Amino acid sequence: MQQYYDIKKEYSDTLLLFQVGDFYELFFEDAQKAAVYLGIALTKRGKINGEPIPLCGVPVHAKDHYMNKLVRGGFKVAICDQLETPKPGSVVKRGVTQVLTPGTLTDEKLLDAKSASYLFSFFSINNQWGLLFGELLTAQLFATTIPINAEKMLESELIRFFPDEILLPVGDVAKQFNSFFRKQGYFTTLVDIDAVSGMDEWIAEQFSVKIQQYVVQHRALLHALKTFYAYLRKNQEAALAQFKNIQCYQADDFLILDSATQRNLELIKNNQDSSRKNTLFEVLDGAITPMGSRMIKKWLLRPLVKKTAIEQRQQVLELFIAQLSLVQQLENFLVTIGDIERVIGRIALCRATVYDYTCLRRVLEIVPNLKIFLQNFLQLPLINVVYIHIADFSVLTQLLVAALHDEPSNTLIIKTGFDHNLDRLRDLIENGNKKIIELELREQQKTGITSLKVRYNKVHGYYIEVTKSNIHAVSEEYVQQQTLVGRTRFTTPELQLLQHELFSARNEIEEAEREVFEKIKQEVAGYITPLRKLAHAVAHLDALLGLACVAYNNGYTKPMFSDSREIIIKNGRHPVVEGSQEVAFIPNDTQLTNQESTWIITGPNMGGKSTYLRQVAHITIMAHIGSFVPAKRADIALLDRIFTRIGSSDNVAEGKSTFLVEMEETASICLYATKNSLVILDEVGRGTSTFDGLAIAQAVVEYIHSTIQARCLFATHYHELTNLQKRFSGIASYYAASKKTERGIVFLYKIIRGIADGSFGIEVAKLASLPQEVIHRSETILKELMLHNNTSGLLASSICDHQKNDVAGSSMQTERMYEPASVMEKERVDENKKLKEQLKKLGEIDYENLSPKKAFDLLWSLKEN
Ligand code: ATP
Repeated sequence: MQQYYDIKKEYSDTLLLFQVGDFYELFFEDAQKAAVYLGIALTKRGKINGEPIPLCGVPVHAKDHYMNKLVRGGFKVAICDQLETPKPGSVVKRGVTQVLTPGTLTDEKLLDAKSASYLFSFFSINNQWGLLFGELLTAQLFATTIPINAEKMLESELIRFFPDEILLPVGDVAKQFNSFFRKQGYFTTLVDIDAVSGMDEWIAEQFSVKIQQYVVQHRALLHALKTFYAYLRKNQEAALAQFKNIQCYQADDFLILDSATQRNLELIKNNQDSSRKNTLFEVLDGAITPMGSRMIKKWLLRPLVKKTAIEQRQQVLELFIAQLSLVQQLENFLVTIGDIERVIGRIALCRATVYDYTCLRRVLEIVPNLKIFLQNFLQLPLINVVYIHIADFSVLTQLLVAALHDEPSNTLIIKTGFDHNLDRLRDLIENGNKKIIELELREQQKTGITSLKVRYNKVHGYYIEVTKSNIHAVSEEYVQQQTLVGRTRFTTPELQLLQHELFSARNEIEEAEREVFEKIKQEVAGYITPLRKLAHAVAHLDALLGLACVAYNNGYTKPMFSDSREIIIKNGRHPVVEGSQEVAFIPNDTQLTNQESTWIITGPNMGGKSTYLRQVAHITIMAHIGSFVPAKRADIALLDRIFTRIGSSDNVAEGKSTFLVEMEETASICLYATKNSLVILDEVGRGTSTFDGLAIAQAVVEYIHSTIQARCLFATHYHELTNLQKRFSGIASYYAASKKTERGIVFLYKIIRGIADGSFGIEVAKLASLPQEVIHRSETILKELMLHNNTSGLLASSICDHQKNDVAGSSMQTERMYEPASVMEKERVDENKKLKEQLKKLGEIDYENLSPKKAFDLLWSLKEN
């Protein structure tokens, strides 16, 4: 227990899993917490100050399962292993071999294969916030500074990287920001910077002079880097030597998508269960390897703003789409390569298993063929970059092929024939029994004692056993060991030598295997930088291939980038909705031109407005990552930001009402949008009184249109806003078309120029199964309101819409809404039939003898039908 106390003192903020033989045991409070969380039995062992010591344990072989649960549950876990074979009478040496926190996981089983795992270090000083994102497995560091109190920018960066763990230095920064980050659902860790030394040396050794200068000039960043160092020094020291570069970026190096936009558009996570189901990422992720998927995810969160860079990606997609046979060949390479990025990451962090090394060997064996394959396409700049980043690994490959066993296990790593000493030891052990049997046979022949046996026991080892009656025949070199009733046991110098070799071989082999493996590891370590480059290059290739396959399978087209600020999309589709519903998706056009830069979109509830708005945002984002887009044709302007304000949510935790959140999002658009931005507003001002809301909505549209001059799509049920087209030449009204039929309303999902004649809210309320009583009452109220014909134009227009609907006697047909294509088809057929009948009637008219009265009656009957 003394040993436990000493170690626990060092790792007081963790759950300490203390190896005792085949179990990891937890004591005291750790045991109580873990037992409750893991649902395992809490027991007692021994006493302290007369009180029993609480204890729980998990089997060593099930470690990964429990670790995963604990770390995902927000615990930090320190693994304290037995560091030597236990010997009776002494306390076995133990030490912490691993500290697991959400941001420092490296094990395949503990990580989400499709997400990078970032540690985020934050510091605030003077007028700057320093942001540093580090990924242990790829040794990448991204850094930026933002103005103090730019909370929205901070949120956007956090959503871009989704850090698994946030590091804050103990002191003022932690006091000020810990609860801020925690409230947003992040896992935070406080780091004692003063307890660690050697930071300046680390920075000086690892980074170029240019980076050092940059960091020194940005003090917030310097402190963030120091916090990062201090944390790793304690928890993952091996990682420190890996970081050699910091990618310093400015937020506007990429297309800026603020946090609300990223959430609203469900780029990476959906808003239902935070999974990737029904997200844009799910649609675009056609990569073969997890590292390719992670790359696509990174691209999606950091779309490009430079035309050349986008076009370079497009060129590769075009190549793959044009030559599908290449895809097949590349896929074969990628399947073998797998997640080599994380394999190399684990190797670099000294956390790799022998299987990681055999995986590396498998990959390196095919790399030369991959290079030959790429040689044919070096005219494409990106393929050229990938090619250049694949170094010559022939020496390393030869070593791994010669050294590593084809089917390794933890006790059999090195191939026969690679190391003479190891072969000898293996030979000794493998042939040990055979040699003993040979010796037995030789001794039988030499002495003529056929009953002579070589036997083994734990106390004496190997011995030769001879029965009493044959004792006279033993040779001179036989040394008596033990006499039993009727039998005597001997040894000989030869047997002793054999036994010695056998015993020491058994003891030595593990060590010898480890030594040889260690040497190989050192060789591999020398290649980490080129290996990382290889992985990065292949991940790029896979991401491009993935986008190409998705584009091909879904019939996407290459978007063009013009230098104008126009966004013109012909037959655009929503990439997620088109694949997730059974009925055909109705494509729509968009022309956000200089003549019509703001569209006010009206239309019935459920008419397809939101889908349309999101589809335009998705298509523009896809275009900016180099992907092809779901449209017949797309001319996209290079944008600097995309803003979306969609739906309503509150933030009660921060004391913000739904309306306040809505206004904050709108404010952020008014503050940060520029004339090169795309602004998408799905209702503004709904969370307050009608007139306040309408006033705000109108003022916002006017401001975005006239002052900011951004491209804007604004969907609204405030039909009054459509009047703006009369006052502003660049504002146009469009609506989601619907069609009244005898059986009810059919949604056409076509966005066309004009103004909708209603929102039909009560009809949608029926769909939602609002009680009949409430529906009837709302219909009555609506009629009353109309009768009073309130002086408010707003109310009158809304009432009129419903009245028109009512007069037509229509009610919404739910089945029609879900089968728009088939319903429309049936109607078309009906109408054709009617038209034919009418034409027939017209053809049969005897014009010569038609009286005016008859002509009038005929016209009347045609109209009535
Ligand atoms: P509300 O005003 O009530 O928010 P809305 O006009 O925004 O409604 P959406 O939510 O966009 O309506 O669309 C409702 C449903 O209609 C979608 O979930 C989708 O299933 C279907 N839909 C929308 N657009 C299309 C389309 N272009 N083609 C086929 N189906 C569509």
